[in-house]
Amino acid sequence: MTTLIKNGTIITATDMYKADLLVKNGVITEIGSEISKIASEIIDAADKWVLPGAVDVHTHMDAQCDGMTTVDDFETGTTAAAAGGTTTILDYAEQAPGTSLTQTLEEWKTKAESHSVVDYGFHLALSEINEEILSQIPGAVEAGVTSFHLRLDGYGSRYIRDGDLVEFLQRTTKAGALACIHAENGEVIDLFLRRLAAEGKTSVKYLPVARPPEVEAQAFARAISLAEMAKTPLYLTNLSSAHAIEKVKAARDRGLPIFAETCSHYLAMSSDRYEDSEGIKYYCTPPLRPSWHIDVLWKAITSEDIHVVGSDHMAFNYAGQKNLGKDNFTQAPRGFPGIQERLSILCTAGVQSGKINANKLVDLTSTSPAKLFGLFPRKGTLAVGSDADMVIFDPKADVTLSKSLSLSRSDYTPYEGMRTHGAVWLVIQRGKVITREGKVIGKPGQGEFLSREKFSTP
Ligand SMILES: [Zn+2]
Repeated sequence: MTTLIKNGTIITATDMYKADLLVKNGVITEIGSEISKIASEIIDAADKWVLPGAVDVHTHMDAQCDGMTTVDDFETGTTAAAAGGTTTILDYAEQAPGTSLTQTLEEWKTKAESHSVVDYGFHLALSEINEEILSQIPGAVEAGVTSFHLRLDGYGSRYIRDGDLVEFLQRTTKAGALACIHAENGEVIDLFLRRLAAEGKTSVKYLPVARPPEVEAQAFARAISLAEMAKTPLYLTNLSSAHAIEKVKAARDRGLPIFAETCSHYLAMSSDRYEDSEGIKYYCTPPLRPSWHIDVLWKAITSEDIHVVGSDHMAFNYAGQKNLGKDNFTQAPRGFPGIQERLSILCTAGVQSGKINANKLVDLTSTSPAKLFGLFPRKGTLAVGSDADMVIFDPKADVTLSKSLSLSRSDYTPYEGMRTHGAVWLVIQRGKVITREGKVIGKPGQGEFLSREKFSTP
């Protein structure tokens, strides 16, 4: 099977040029001007961008959160991914207390295989730190899982102690993996939540009061400081505020290997949403921030203090799930869908508005995540020998986002009514077309498990 993509503008994290690409047996075999070989399929990409398939390293499919199950499993969630140009996901495999890492990995593989439309790998999200779990980390790395995640906000592993955190950072690093942390101070959040509840302030407009940026920044500082003591790299997820960026910037200015991820929603929506009558639809943690933070986030992307933008796709229905928190937000599950919209939203808010160039868009959504998580150069770029995962993107298409276009099983999209300039036209996964003009033709089970390389500082 040979595919020739002609006349497109190839965009990687570093280059932009017009060329043709030849794909054989799922791999890019030639890039050059006016390739005239015989191919079983010829795709004309004139006036379009040819980008590496997007890599989303922050998804939650078929997962439990706050006692509820996400509405997207691997089948619907990765169908939405394919529609939005994402050809690789790293999903959070959640270790339940008392469950081994091997069991957790097997459970997540069962959820994904024969269901996932796109290629997938996993982070192991730990709910506890003890010798038994720590001793299983090298085995999981050998099985191809080279990142481990912990939360400091009191969900899952409650109140991780400093010594345990250092142990986690060092054991993970020693095994050749990257330690990832969601940093918010859970003890302070619990205190603020109790006070708000006592005053009857439980509607979602009080979410930013329960989880202010200072609570995030303190936990960022703590995690960074402990990583410095442990002499390990660290990847911080879900960065939402200017306050947290300050901590990352200070650490990076001192040369520490600290990497930060924000999510598309923190770049596209502000905390004004919590004033809406259906504000609970936007309940996520950390919360959306006042709009001035968004400008600071974009600046941090330009100054290379933010390296990755994930979707944190965690889809629930409004009816029967999110709206249970209409009067008390803590009764709703946190999270919302976003995997399908990530690329077009970032193109609109970032590239079309002049904040970043198209190379940076590729870097944030594909190259950097592939490098940090042991997938590069198989994924994350367009080069001879790389998997032929690509997005043919129409930078001129205007789309108004709406539930009717969304392939997530969720009954709403948080991006309803948002206009995007630029849209996914065609998506190729290992040489096969999986999305054509918005229609996903890739089949469940077509995605492959990705055994990842050990971490090395990019
Ligand atoms: Zn998440």
